[in-house]
Amino acid sequence: MAKRRIVLIGYRGTGKSSIGKALSRMTGQGYLDTDQLIEDATGKKISQIFESEGEAGFREIEQHVIARIPSGAGIISTGGGAVIRPVNVRMLRMNSLVILLNSSPEVIYNRIHTSDRPSLTGLPPREEIEQVLKERMPIYRSVADIVIDTSTTTPEEAARQILNLVENGICVPDKRKELFSSVMKTAIPSGEKIHLKKISGDYDIFLYGILGYPCLHSKSPGIYNHLFADYGMPAHYTWFEHKDPGRFLSLLPGTGVRGLSVTIPHKETVIPYLDEIKHDAESIGAVNTILIQDEKKYGFNTDWKGIYRPLEGTLGDTAVILGAGGAAAAAVYAVSMRGFTPVILNRTPERAEHLARKSGAEIGSLADIGKYHPDLIINATPVGMGSDPHTPIPPSALQPGMKVFDLVYTPRDTPLLQAALASGCSVIPGTEMFIHQLAEQFRILTGIDTPVSRLREILA
Ligand code: NAP
Repeated sequence: MAKRRIVLIGYRGTGKSSIGKALSRMTGQGYLDTDQLIEDATGKKISQIFESEGEAGFREIEQHVIARIPSGAGIISTGGGAVIRPVNVRMLRMNSLVILLNSSPEVIYNRIHTSDRPSLTGLPPREEIEQVLKERMPIYRSVADIVIDTSTTTPEEAARQILNLVENGICVPDKRKELFSSVMKTAIPSGEKIHLKKISGDYDIFLYGILGYPCLHSKSPGIYNHLFADYGMPAHYTWFEHKDPGRFLSLLPGTGVRGLSVTIPHKETVIPYLDEIKHDAESIGAVNTILIQDEKKYGFNTDWKGIYRPLEGTLGDTAVILGAGGAAAAAVYAVSMRGFTPVILNRTPERAEHLARKSGAEIGSLADIGKYHPDLIINATPVGMGSDPHTPIPPSALQPGMKVFDLVYTPRDTPLLQAALASGCSVIPGTEMFIHQLAEQFRILTGIDTPVSRLREILA
């Protein structure tokens, strides 16, 4: 086997140390255990560190130890909470295959109940395992490339399963070929077709992509592929232009696709095909992010975070949302979370009524803008996109002191933002939504917290 960096993550008692040692024996690669490194560095048992420094003190030491792990090939097993800190995730992911070892709570209890480690929660042991697993599982799922169930396997059996994946690749070649041929039929750029052909036999490269129809205008592939290079991830992101989300998702098992961004017109129609959907995405009624792990599909909405985060520090009572589609639904949710009372103004009354039924917002037509004196206006229509010189509302409706957030991001300085600046309003360009929603999506799909400043740099 070619030498690789394999990182084992997961709760205590899932076999990280014993499987790590078995992998090391089978491959002849070096083995490191972060808990052991901590004990060696401090001269104390982990339980003593928890007692004297508390969990926070332990995590500090753990972070220093992880930062010093050599970057080359080897087998690394980590403490159960090591991936809670994003900075550790960046280090551990670099040029690695990250494997989550998972066992049932009952099996974990049987394996660790005699341990001298102090409680993390103060709960009885069985309840603690269930609660901490519930909290950590979304992080584990995001960080791991692969999940191995170790509830009933011996360390050698689990190690052989991992080696099989490492040697034979993470996908079924025919399945990946079928997926790639469906993409080749679309109008993706010829450079991308050549690249896909080049990597079609690299079965240890994970795939990500944007699912939509159309979606070839999306800038996400360029940004993701920059980030994968930054973080040394064996992954590629491409355009998955497909009319039928159900049919497309049925092609995925065995292809090594780990995550999707979802765009128009599939954000709502994709929901019935998912195994789980996060409560904010359910409230908004739209999914723009799908994490695929262990053949299960988890739905998220990061669009609202892309609106919520740039509004940090923006205060006021009324927020007018122009439009009543998917982006408007995310905007209504985001402004409500910031404490504004939303008002939805839309061209088609039925669509505004539909969105208002879910949010309880007041509704009207775009011509009603004069009735309101909002502190915040968010444009969630495509008006002003490309070379369209129009504004969705007359510039006379814009008053000094208002904040105007245009979700349209091509061009960056839209006609609405130009009119808002000329009227003495402060403005937020749509690129801010794009960057913030992508940062959150990248964290969900890879476990890595990437600075938005890096995304601005790549986009520039
Ligand atoms: P959508 O679901 O198709 O909804 C579009 C909304 O715009 C509908 O309410 C529609 O009104 C209204 N609209 C369309 N053309 C109009 C026109 N000529 N005049 C007045 N209203 C019009 O689309 P979406 O997903 O919500 O996206 C809306 C816009 O948000 C996109 O065009 C994009 O520019 C922006 N966006 C930006 C980001 C980002 O990251 N910055 C992310 C997502 C979306 P009717 O109901 O009357 O059809």
